[in-house]
Amino acid sequence: MKKVLITGAAGFLGSHLSDRFIKEGFQVIGMDNYITGDKKNIAHLMEHENFEFIEHDVTQFVKIDGPLDYILHFASPASPIDYLKIPIQTLKVGSLGTHNLLGLAKAKKARILIASTSEVYGDPLVHPQTENYYGNVNTIGPRGVYDEAKRFQESITMAYHRFHGLETRIVRIFNTYGPRMRLNDGRVIPAFMGQALRGEDLTVFGTGAQTRSFCYVDDQVDGIFKLLFSDYAYPVNIGNPHEITIKDFAEEIIKLTGTNQKIVYKALPTDDPLQRQPDISLAKKLLNWTPKVDRAEGMAKTFQYFKQLTPEELNRSEH
Ligand code: NAD
Ligand code: UDP
Repeated sequence: MKKVLITGAAGFLGSHLSDRFIKEGFQVIGMDNYITGDKKNIAHLMEHENFEFIEHDVTQFVKIDGPLDYILHFASPASPIDYLKIPIQTLKVGSLGTHNLLGLAKAKKARILIASTSEVYGDPLVHPQTENYYGNVNTIGPRGVYDEAKRFQESITMAYHRFHGLETRIVRIFNTYGPRMRLNDGRVIPAFMGQALRGEDLTVFGTGAQTRSFCYVDDQVDGIFKLLFSDYAYPVNIGNPHEITIKDFAEEIIKLTGTNQKIVYKALPTDDPLQRQPDISLAKKLLNWTPKVDRAEGMAKTFQYFKQLTPEELNRSEH
């Protein structure tokens, strides 16, 4: 049985990846320090014979006994309010954490895939974003702690690939959503869902003319799975190119949830990208991958998840 270490396993993507790898017959070691994750996301796996959990901060030396075939490095705060609240940890997990995991991959002769992001493109001047676009990031702005950690992560990964001949993969993930997102993580989907369910107005930042392109989690996990087993070491965009303005998206959510609330406008956060859409030609060609779940279907499933949260979970304002 092949063994895979998944960091950030108690988070949104890490927990879905753990499910997928177990389903595919792998032995999964989940690692997390719960800084933005939730035990609930992996509660169903804790007793599974092919799942083992290690509570650990990956910015500290990472020790795994025995052989290891694959590493998926997904540990990192991922939402703007999280990384603004814990900026130093965000920089450390992308830099020191990635260094530790690359070292572990080298020692175990394991293949490693790292979770990069569309944020490496910053506020993009090229649209849609292709992998060969270098990006437009404000290094010293508040979001820089995340964007630059991820850019460093890509650089050090390529250095290990070139210098040590390590087998590496880099996925540039575009906005992904689905069940197990943390309700109060500040990202737009849990924010709007929580507001609709609590009977509050939906907060659109800026004019709402900024765009995003939302990918359902099952499609994202499938793209990541295929990328890991490809032979391509350079970054690959995985996301759903169907782009929408945040204002139109808020209106879609009002319809979906049946809320009587309205949209209220708040200040646009500093350096909030104005437009974002992945060019996925490379993933289509290389991985024969394309997203299958459209927004209506994905959002309906996501709403089902948020609807079954307890009133206590729904009203919890702090993580
Ligand atoms: P998440 O916050 O739900 O999960 C991240 C997990 O990492 C959490 O469980 C957290 O506790 C853990 N973690 C953070 N720092 C750690 C550390 N030092 N040691 C051990 N564990 C640590 O976020 P997510 O949406 O699941 O994102 C997972 C990864 O995917 C991140 O690397 C993120 O940058 C990347 N990503 C996600 C998206 C998206 O749309 N969801 C988009 C781009 C990139
Ligand atoms: N956003 C919003 N209202 C909210 C939360 C977010 O209008 O309550 C906007 C945010 O300004 C951004 C978009 O929605 O333009 C997506 O934000 P998110 O934090 O989900 O992801 P990111 O900015 O990292 O793509």
